[in-house]
Formats: sequence, structure tokens, C-alpha cells
Amino acid sequence: LHNQIQDLKGKFRVFCRVRPAHSNAADGEKIEVADIVYPDERADGQEIQIYGPSSESAMGNITTKVHPFSFDKVFTPRCDNEEVFLEISQLVQSALDGYNVCIFAYGQTGSGKTHTMSSHDGMIPRAVEQIFQTCEGLKEKGWKYMLEGQFLEIYNENINDLLGKPNRSEKINHEIRHDVKEQKTVVTDLTTATLDSPEKVIAILRQADNNRSVAATKSNERSSRSHSVFILKIQGKNYLTGEQCNGILNLVDLAGSERLSQSQAIGERLKETQAINKSLSCLGDVIYAMSNSREGAHIPYRNSKLTYLLQYSLSGNSKTLMFVNVSPLKQHANETINSLRFATKVNNT
Ligand code: ADP
Ligand code: MG
Repeated sequence: LHNQIQDLKGKFRVFCRVRPAHSNAADGEKIEVADIVYPDERADGQEIQIYGPSSESAMGNITTKVHPFSFDKVFTPRCDNEEVFLEISQLVQSALDGYNVCIFAYGQTGSGKTHTMSSHDGMIPRAVEQIFQTCEGLKEKGWKYMLEGQFLEIYNENINDLLGKPNRSEKINHEIRHDVKEQKTVVTDLTTATLDSPEKVIAILRQADNNRSVAATKSNERSSRSHSVFILKIQGKNYLTGEQCNGILNLVDLAGSERLSQSQAIGERLKETQAINKSLSCLGDVIYAMSNSREGAHIPYRNSKLTYLLQYSLSGNSKTLMFVNVSPLKQHANETINSLRFATKVNNT
């Protein structure tokens, strides 16, 4: 088990998850499923093939191109959050060993990112529950842990505190400060909740959901246009041996990755579009630069709030996983292929 955890270090893993076809369709809406070939009916395959939209030649021949992809894991639409969590539980566990762990959900709007991360039943509450349980178990070995949670949203390159009082947080200008010596990131004036019980965790997750929906009424579909970041800080001390260990778990529900055209957007929409395009491409650039650069070479963390915030969780003592969430529908095949291409770039890192 320990070897496997070691294996994860310094590499970006990618899990592909295909959501079920039915879930998003309004009553009576016609849904057409794209041709997707899964490894097998079980949850543990690595290959996925998708047939792109057909094209017709001048001679009337119809061709459909098949696009093969391969990831660390492919979850078919049959897999539920419980099965998915089983596959990340080791990675979550390593935050208790002092690693900086980052888990992203990437994909177009409607592809299942929030379902995967969901503060009701997704990776967030499952991860926190597992960490609580493990901490309890380690008590008898002398370990005492302090858990702290923060929940923020990055919207238009501004940080909003999702644990702040609704309506107030947006007026506060939260800044990201780095403590280079300690390799620590601090966001100014951000609410930090001490998580001393599972009930406290549920309470703050509810509050964050509420704050997000308050914001959503102000800006249409805001949650698909912002990144939300749940940060769990873990400080452990062993009273028998004197050992200490500090780990961080970041769970990130990214803004929708659909190609956003700037040509049609005006005003507020244009600002949003530019911010999303910038931060997602910046995330790609950072990942790419990390894999291709020599030690000490420049990596453009500062180019977006998201990468600057996560700098220390994307470098050094860190482990990163990206879910690429995709829709199985034919009408989304182009976006699905785009997402899988982005994820392939990440996976080769
Ligand atoms: P996103 O956050 O990427 O925009 P959502 O997570 O909101 O997408 O998913 C869109 C819809 O599909 C929601 O109604 C969600 O509950 C449903 N859904 C997504 N993934 C699954 C899944 N694996 N199983 C069941 N329903 C899902
Ligand atoms: Mg969402």
C-alpha cells in the first residue's frame, strides 16, 4: 500500500468519468447517445474510445472517426460515487502523511463535476469523513490532529469566501499571499473553520452551498462559470514520538471547460469568458511546464488566481489527480473529445 502511495507522487493522474445519459434530459427531450466503447463493464478499465461526429464526403461517403484515449482509470456511467471514492481513498489518506493533495474535476458544464465533488454525497464529504475516522484510529498511537476548513470561489479572477456571511464577502478583497520560507499560502481575511466534529463539517458545507446559490441568483449559472475550492488543512502531532506532519487536501470543482467564444460575449459575459479561458489554459500551461521543464525553471503559476493559490499543492511534495468528467451524449461529442484531449496532455505529465 505504501509503495502505491509513493507511486502517485509527482505525477498527475487522470480518471475519466462518463455520466449516465438520462440524468440531464428534460422530460421528452430526445437524447442520442454517442458511440462510446468502454474497456469492459467493470469499473477498472483504462481505455475509452469515442466516435466523433460523422462527416459526409462530396461523394456521399459517411465516415465516423474513432478517437481512442487511455487514462489511469475509466469509470463507466454505471459507477456511483462510492465506487469512485474507493479509487481515491489512498490518495486522500496521503494528506494525513503530510502531502499536499489536489483533486480537480474538469469538464464541460453538465458533465458531472459537481455530482462527483458534491458536498452532499460526493468526494468532499467522503474524504472528510475518512480523514476523521483515520484520525480517530491514530489517537491510540499518540497522534492528535487539528483539522481546518476553508471554502472559496474564484469568479472573474476574484476570490469570494464561501464560508463568509452571505452578501458581505464579495465586498472584501481577498488576496493570496505566499510564505516562501514555509511554503505556505494564505488568503487574506478568509474564514477558517475549525473542524472538530463531522457535524461541524456538514454545517460548513451547507453554508457554502447556500452562499453559492445566493450568488447564483445574481449571475446566471454562476456555478458553471466559477471554480470552487475546498481546502482542508491537517496538522498532526504525535505526543509519544514528537513527530509532526502537515498536509493539505484541496478539492476543486472547476468552471465549465466548454469552448467559450469571445466574439459573441459582451460586458459581464466577456469578462467571465476571458477569466475562465485564462485560468483553465493557465492550469494546462502550469501542468505542461512542470512536466517539461528542468528543475528550477520558470513555471507560470502567477498567471491566474487558481494556479497561484494552488502553487505549493502543485509542486514539490504534492500529489494531483484530475477527474475528466464527460457526457455520453452525441450532441456533446466534440466537447467530450476536447476534454479528453486536454486530460491526455495532463495524464502524460
Ligand atoms: P457540472 O457540475 O459538470 O455542470 P453536474 O454535476 O451538475 O454537472 O451534472 C449535471 C446533471 O447530471 C445533474 O443533474 C447531476 O445530478 C447529473 N449527474 C451527473 N453525473 C451523474 C452521475 N454519475 N450519476 C447520476 N447523475 C449524474
Ligand atoms: Mg457544477
